[in-house]
Amino acid sequence: MEFNLDSLIRENIKRLVPYSSARDEFKGEANVFLDANENSLGSPLTKWYNRYPDPLQLKVKEKLSTIKGIPVQNTFLGNGSDECIDVLIRAFCEPGFDNILICPPTYGMYQVSADINNVTVRKVKLTPDFQLDLPAIEEAIDGNTKMIFLCSPNNPTGNSLIREDIEVLLNNFFGIVVIDEAYINFSRHKSFSTSLDEYPNLVVMQTLSKAWGLAALRVGIAFASEEIIKIMNKVKPPYNINQASQEIVLKALEGVSQVNDMIRILVEERELLKSSLLHLPMVKEVYPSDANFLLVKVNDAKATYNYLLQKGIVVRDRSKVELCEACLRITIGSPEENNQLVNALSELR
Ligand SMILES: *Cc1c(COP(=O)(O)O)cnc(C)c1O
Repeated sequence: MEFNLDSLIRENIKRLVPYSSARDEFKGEANVFLDANENSLGSPLTKWYNRYPDPLQLKVKEKLSTIKGIPVQNTFLGNGSDECIDVLIRAFCEPGFDNILICPPTYGMYQVSADINNVTVRKVKLTPDFQLDLPAIEEAIDGNTKMIFLCSPNNPTGNSLIREDIEVLLNNFFGIVVIDEAYINFSRHKSFSTSLDEYPNLVVMQTLSKAWGLAALRVGIAFASEEIIKIMNKVKPPYNINQASQEIVLKALEGVSQVNDMIRILVEERELLKSSLLHLPMVKEVYPSDANFLLVKVNDAKATYNYLLQKGIVVRDRSKVELCEACLRITIGSPEENNQLVNALSELR
């Protein structure tokens, strides 16, 4: 057997004639645009928000390409990574027939998106040290398994998956392997985005919501082969990234060095916070993290959560999640916020 993209696409998507917008049908220069039923008088704003945005976000992708080194034709932008996940599932998974595989504990949206699309989710728990259980994965996949969603560094555990394990799946699974790298900027490990040429079945997701600090603008990224990107573009809503987001993101992408400074501070703070937490009597374990958060095992997760809340500090209680029993997930804040957290916890009796 080998990888055959054509055999993975849903039949209706293969046959789909995508929506053709006015801007798809005429891309040239002109003075008078009377083809898209826009308001030619303008808008209440000074900006030209009366015009539809670029459906394929070329300027943003070109700028991203100079930063990430991935060609424009290998780049898809979604209204958040959440839209990338949804578009992938809708393009490849036949509702009520195909399935996807996930490895909990992991990001919740893979399951939610599959559930919305009536696509079965097969689950293979991570090992106790939060790594892939390859024999169990091999056992769980069948001819209808279209996609495996991996998250590395993983949310909520914080660790990176072992690269060689991911490569085993990329080499032996003939569906699509999606690697969610939302936290890759906080990790010492190399992104899989530079391995697209090696693996035709690879999709790498990244986002501007975390290290780039642009969660409100809703821009998620998927890197994949040109063929996969074409399918994703066919399925997405025509104007999925609005003009305001495109403009602001383009400007924000000038700030690489500022973002690198923030990453450096957050990674430093992560290690400082980790060692401070380990000195506290109620902290049982702080798991290794390549992300901008720590998974922390405490004596009594619920009580600690409520105590912090009463101090005005919100963390995420993950104690009900399998393999994360008694754990809180704590985002690395500003140095000042992290001090507040440690001070509050050190006063807890
Ligand atoms: C935060 C996060 C995202 C980002 O989602 P957006 O929709 O791009 O904001 C994606 N994947 C994981 C694992 C995350 O934790």
